[in-house]
Amino acid sequence: MEEQTLQIPPTAKTRKIYWPNIIYLVASPLLSITLVPYYLYTQGFDWKVWVFTLVLGCATTVSITGGYHRLFAHRSYSTRTWVKIFYLLFGGASFQGSVLKWATDHRRHHRYVDTDKDPYNINQGFWYAHIGWLIVEDDPQYKDKFAQDLLNDRLIYLQHKYYLWVAFGMGVILPTWIGYGLGSTLGGFAMAAVLRLVVTNHSTFFINSLCHTLGRQPYSDEHSARDSYIMAFFAFGEGYHNFHHQFQSDYRNGIRWFDWDPTKWTVNFLASIGSAYNLKKISQATIIKARIVMEEKQLIQEGIPVEAIHPFKVKVEEAGKKWKMIREDYLAMKAGMKERSKEKLKILRQEMKRSQREFKTAWQLWVAYARHARTLSRV
Ligand SMILES: [Zn+2]
Ligand SMILES: [Zn+2]
Repeated sequence: MEEQTLQIPPTAKTRKIYWPNIIYLVASPLLSITLVPYYLYTQGFDWKVWVFTLVLGCATTVSITGGYHRLFAHRSYSTRTWVKIFYLLFGGASFQGSVLKWATDHRRHHRYVDTDKDPYNINQGFWYAHIGWLIVEDDPQYKDKFAQDLLNDRLIYLQHKYYLWVAFGMGVILPTWIGYGLGSTLGGFAMAAVLRLVVTNHSTFFINSLCHTLGRQPYSDEHSARDSYIMAFFAFGEGYHNFHHQFQSDYRNGIRWFDWDPTKWTVNFLASIGSAYNLKKISQATIIKARIVMEEKQLIQEGIPVEAIHPFKVKVEEAGKKWKMIREDYLAMKAGMKERSKEKLKILRQEMKRSQREFKTAWQLWVAYARHARTLSRV
């Protein structure tokens, strides 16, 4: 008989403490709660320093959310080189590691979410997922494992090689120097370097902790990721984390036009000036299919019979399929369009719009009947 060996996954307890991160994670909040009040007390309020801090905060946050995350880790769109350089420089200023390290960890998180192989596994506790994972040395077996495409990118490689220079140059020296130019070196350092770092770091960390603990799960409950509107606000749209885990290749996290997702709006803006392209989107039919599966699960859990509304579910699925098919035909014809097929294309577009309306009506009907079934069960 074959001998069985017990595989013990490497846990936080068996890994060595990583002191540089401990020092950074303790010193940065301590510095901000002492230096910021000292600066305000001695020099008062100066709107120029505040505006500069806010602008740099937005630049570093969007470089993490739109750059490190949606561009480099997920490849959910493509950009011109100047945008990549911007993300590499200002993302470096956030002190969250190089793109290579960040994206490797993040791809691993998506692939092994909620397991021992997930670098910020929420099952090891809220604080482990928040900062605990950063204070233990990384498991060497995963080094660069999911990042071959990033290793082949010269700019990403350079940022990784000179990471500390980029981080200190862009994250500490530049804001302090600009602060000096604005009339307060201390203001530049305390506000635009230290305070900005603490705020932007913890809003990213809360995605790994809070967005795997609190919030709604409208698209899937097969992972711990949740949608949190509060985190969406602070983390430039990244709080729609349940959607993101389910449809990670979509460049949007908040999918409705009014959902608070400044990262999506930035990418849209870049696309409008020709600096971003190949924006990936999951079809609405696929997204709504996931919503129905989840809503149906919840209705069953509440003890509501779903048989009565099943025909409406079928209608939504059929209308979704039809719309998707016509849309694909339309896009294929548009791509290879000749002058003489213009009229045909116009007809196909009208048909596509009609099938989209039919699909939306079917979905609204399903929502109305599901609500009705819920009300009846309460009577
Ligand atoms: Zn996550
Ligand atoms: Zn992600």
